Amino acid sequence: MMRKLVAGIDIGGTTTSYVLADSEGNVLADGTMPTCGFGSFDEYASVLALRIKELSESLGSVHSLVAAGAGAPSVDFAAGEIVSAPNLPWKGRLPLSGLLSEYLGGIPVCADNDANAAALGEMMFGGACGMKNFLMITLGTGVGCGIVAGGEIVHGERGMAGEFGHMAYERHGGRQCGCGRKGCLEAYVSAKGMVRTLSALMAETHEDSEFRNLPFNAIDASDIASAASRGDRLALETFRITGRILGEAVADAVAFADPQAVFFFGGPTASGDLLMSPLREAFRSSAGPLWKDNVILELSSVDAGRAAVLGAAAMAWKKHSMRPHIGEN
Ligand SMILES: [Zn+2]
Repeated sequence: MMRKLVAGIDIGGTTTSYVLADSEGNVLADGTMPTCGFGSFDEYASVLALRIKELSESLGSVHSLVAAGAGAPSVDFAAGEIVSAPNLPWKGRLPLSGLLSEYLGGIPVCADNDANAAALGEMMFGGACGMKNFLMITLGTGVGCGIVAGGEIVHGERGMAGEFGHMAYERHGGRQCGCGRKGCLEAYVSAKGMVRTLSALMAETHEDSEFRNLPFNAIDASDIASAASRGDRLALETFRITGRILGEAVADAVAFADPQAVFFFGGPTASGDLLMSPLREAFRSSAGPLWKDNVILELSSVDAGRAAVLGAAAMAWKKHSMRPHIGEN
């Protein structure tokens, strides 16, 4: 009997990750490719589909790819389209589900915001198992938030709920954000925002740092994490500032969402307590009395940072289960 598989895809500003998974969430194969460097979104989608087809074929003919799910920034869930994502190289409305389905031979494809995919993955395979109300905050090139209320993902009127990164941190002025506004949270706590904080610290102080002789475009958030683990003071201070800003923003977010827990997912969270200690401290000192000691703040506990791809795979299974299965075994 054919073994059915789905593809789970996570499209980040820098890297695209994908897995082939069975209905239990077991990953049979995985891969990554760069998100940037393609002539058009159409070309990117065709290369991604080809990679997935090749990966599926490498598992042998007993496997059959029946659906795909994709998480990406700024997705209109109902339309399956990416809409003006500030952190992707293509502008306007991008028909993500439609193009992937076409290039994958017509299988059903669904798309949702990457933070929603990660929230679903955490709910099915991680620390949010059994939870009805929680937030999943994703940190990377951008900053997003999946909102789960009453056990369901909140999509909002336009499919765009949870644009946490574009809430104001600096209400007047502040750093330019990729969305066109100034002062958004994302310009401070995304991977790029952390590099900007490090840059500001270098300009403001005479503290020695291993970054003093490096051009800024050569530094990324993972370099700041490694330098912090070696005790670089400016790198440590960058984490303290980032954790504090994020902790204060989370304190505001719990006041309107009233979650049982807030989970954190994405590159900068790999540094663990470097980020989480100042984050928890800032949360406790700024959250309201109802929440400050009563909301769980934890890193995603899905294995190998796979919350988003497994959540996307879970969406694909749901999509597959909704279509008629005429003639399938
Ligand atoms: Zn913004």
